[in-house]
Amino acid sequence: MPLNAKSRKRSTKIAITLASGLLPVVLGFGILYMQAERALQQSAQQTAEEAIRQFELMLDNTAQAARELLPLAGQSCLDVNLALREQVTRRPFVRSTNLVWDDTIYCSSLFGDYHEKISSGDYSGGRLLLMKGNPVTPDTALLVYRLSDGKRGAMSTLDGYHLSNVLRLIGRQTILVLQVGPNWLTADGRFHDGALPDFPVAQSMLTSSRYEFSVAAGFPEGETWRYMSSQYPPLFSLLIFFGVVSGLIGHVLQKRSSSPTHEMKRALDAAEFVPYFQAVVHGDSKQISGIEVLMRWNHPKEGLVPPDLFIPFAEYSGLIVPMTRSLMQQTATLLGPLSTSFKEPFHIGINITASHCQNLELVEDCREFLTAFAPGSIHLVLELTERELIEPTAITHQLFEQLHGLGVKIAIDDFGTGHSSLGYLRQFNVDFLKIDQSFVAMIGIDTLSSHILDSIIELATKLNLAMVAEGVETQAQSDYLTALHVNFQQGYLFGRPMPGAEFISALSDH
Ligand code: C2E
Ligand code: CA
Ligand code: CA
Repeated sequence: MPLNAKSRKRSTKIAITLASGLLPVVLGFGILYMQAERALQQSAQQTAEEAIRQFELMLDNTAQAARELLPLAGQSCLDVNLALREQVTRRPFVRSTNLVWDDTIYCSSLFGDYHEKISSGDYSGGRLLLMKGNPVTPDTALLVYRLSDGKRGAMSTLDGYHLSNVLRLIGRQTILVLQVGPNWLTADGRFHDGALPDFPVAQSMLTSSRYEFSVAAGFPEGETWRYMSSQYPPLFSLLIFFGVVSGLIGHVLQKRSSSPTHEMKRALDAAEFVPYFQAVVHGDSKQISGIEVLMRWNHPKEGLVPPDLFIPFAEYSGLIVPMTRSLMQQTATLLGPLSTSFKEPFHIGINITASHCQNLELVEDCREFLTAFAPGSIHLVLELTERELIEPTAITHQLFEQLHGLGVKIAIDDFGTGHSSLGYLRQFNVDFLKIDQSFVAMIGIDTLSSHILDSIIELATKLNLAMVAEGVETQAQSDYLTALHVNFQQGYLFGRPMPGAEFISALSDH
């Protein structure tokens, strides 16, 4: 049955629920990851800026020593040696000083008289050189600042210990490297030359605007995850919460979309409920006197679904009212154009239920239905089953009064199976009794049922009500009913219910 048909497989539903739960988590996680990368990039940049600032301050101090010594270059080492040592003592970062004449160091604060040729090309911008060490401390890096003026030159060296200290202290979490020309220094005080290594995370490189050096900063492998796990735990909890909520919403929406009511609404919008027509014939002449409109569900997957399978749920959900309205509109569209050719009022039976009788909407639906036909060309018959009789209330009275005012007829369907009293039949101004097919089926088979049938017919005749016998399948049944003057007959003997359009073309051919 279409209402129970699982429109989606269980595994698909679980997958959709999981996906709707995971999507916000994955998206949120992605956003947090990018946010963490940006924060680390910013931090690396700031650390490199700070290191540059510190190195510039240290170099300012070192350069000052060279500036003060430059005028002494050319004087004998003996005369200036004290001045060289004084700079070393006075200046916190200066480790040694030298005087140069014609690109040759001739006096050193460490050795006094000295002789070493230098090559100005080794110095970045002619000013800075990062060295592995000097003859006194070969394993402690040093940064040489060179100042020259013609043949004169003065040099002051900055102790690598101070440089690596800055790298270590500023960049506690960051990897920092000082680069001068092809050489570079790491936080552990080691001297390197050649290409700089790549930092796995948030690499940034800043160059000093005042001296010829650069600082590279970055983070080791996995820093982004470490940062996230230390900074974002509350956000992770929030993400998980959103994931669960969104998964639940996905689950509920799926349930809703596969609910029978939803499925029926969809079918109604897709005009899948279609009218089938079954002929009703005159008891004597067996000429067509009209039709009963029977609903079918033209389901896209299940095929043609009989009404017993969906009408009870349509009643329960309240959708029967719009479904019947649609059925009436389709019937009016199909039969309306033929109505001028009807020689006598053509009976059109529509099945209604108790839910139609709770307000006056049905009056409007019937009025609209009748306007599609030539005046007086049809009798609209509303069939109310005796199985579930409606309660007489102020509303139902008003409803039936107004329906009668429109000329609408009332039939009690499945008559004999319920408990309608004479008072009831009068109260609702009933016009037809439709004798239930179970009695017709017993004709010639079960004498007791035949007796009941006989008394129903007798009762209807006395009450002056027209009768329709349902479920007439055999000639014997038909003859029996004709003999008892039953006004109308309906059943497979005269025709099965068929699609509206097909019935019309058969009728037109006839
Ligand atoms: P019903 O109103 O008593 O309709 C007569 C049922 O008997 C129809 O079944 C019809 O196909 C079937 N029938 C007609 N002639 C014969 C026959 O010679 N032998 C046998 N065995 N059956 C025959 P269907 O179309 O399956 O409808 C079943 C029930 O569903 C209807 O019984 C009616 O209660 C309900 N129904 C159908 N259409 C609608 C509708 O539009 N609205 C409402 N509320 N109920 C409907
Ligand atoms: Ca009926
Ligand atoms: Ca019936």
